[in-house]
Amino acid sequence: MEKRDYYEILAVSRGASDQDIKRAYRAMAMKYHPDRNPNNKEAEDKFKECAEAYEILSDGDKRKVYDAYGHAGLSGQGFSGFNDVNDVFSSFGSIFEDFFGFSSPGGQGGAGGGKRRGRKGNDLRYDLVLDFEEAAFGVEKEIEYERDVACSTCKGERAEAGGKKTCGTCGGRGQVARSQGFFSVATACPTCHGEGEIVTAPCKPCKGKGRVREQKKVSVKIPPGVDQGVRLRVGEEGQGGAGGGPNGDLYVFLQVKESPHFERDGSDIVHYAAISMIQAALGTKLTVPTLGNNTVEVEVPSGVQFGHRLTIAGEGIPKLRGVGRGDLWVELKVEVPTKMTKEQRELLQQFAEISGEKVGAGANGFFSKIFKD
Ligand SMILES: [Zn+2]
Ligand SMILES: [Zn+2]
Repeated sequence: MEKRDYYEILAVSRGASDQDIKRAYRAMAMKYHPDRNPNNKEAEDKFKECAEAYEILSDGDKRKVYDAYGHAGLSGQGFSGFNDVNDVFSSFGSIFEDFFGFSSPGGQGGAGGGKRRGRKGNDLRYDLVLDFEEAAFGVEKEIEYERDVACSTCKGERAEAGGKKTCGTCGGRGQVARSQGFFSVATACPTCHGEGEIVTAPCKPCKGKGRVREQKKVSVKIPPGVDQGVRLRVGEEGQGGAGGGPNGDLYVFLQVKESPHFERDGSDIVHYAAISMIQAALGTKLTVPTLGNNTVEVEVPSGVQFGHRLTIAGEGIPKLRGVGRGDLWVELKVEVPTKMTKEQRELLQQFAEISGEKVGAGANGFFSKIFKD
């Protein structure tokens, strides 16, 4: 038989775009699909013929060869068209999903052995706020939320006992199959959507939905060392699955409250401590808070500058991955006195004189003229 021109088969011009070609093939495939033309040899031939044309024209390289050398150029590359309809499905499985809203048996993700398999339920998100120290040392929290699960009365079957009948269209197989000589084509049943059964008496508690809203309580163990933005997965505590499929997962997103004493930096924490310039100059002892409502004494050496950090090893946050704890840093803020008694002022002026420093009021009388004491 003389091979027809591919452009002619799909009724598109030689300059047709990929989109035009896909659209044209879609229309042809719908028209000649075996489900719509049972036991029709002519339709089957047309179905294979337009699939062959689509295979070539939708592939840039093959199309170039065809445009330059015609059918002869392609047979030189070993292309020989489709032998049967199942070849078409296995080549264009995904396109049939696009076209018909379900997959074809030969294609990827095909309906396979009949009834639809169970689907996993959706995942759920829960936002949990922790105190600073709960995040540091870990905590167990009971959380409560709502989710959809299979109705316990009908076990997700959507119907009362005996309230289902076998689908007449597919005879309960969930697929519509047609034998056409040496091959057969099957697709998900359009009447029962692959279930194989039809509900005649819907379950009352769930109104035939097969699912009900449930109040759920789950205890979540928060490991020590978690931080803002950490996400914990609690397996299978999400929405109920359908048709015997597993539940979705519950994801707990953590937020951590600020601490009045500490700023967090990974597994280290920073505490800001104010000391006077005299303490900075002469050194001092400080009592600083630590995690867990404790305190620790630290020695501030003499001569520290503003922003100096003292390290208290191992008093930080437990490491989420790994062992041990981070450090506590005490960052010093040196404060200058704003109010002084006459005596204090005189002593500081004396100090300045001994050091040979020029100081404000009284140094040259300039400031005292402007700001009268
Ligand atoms: Zn029910
Ligand atoms: Zn059916």
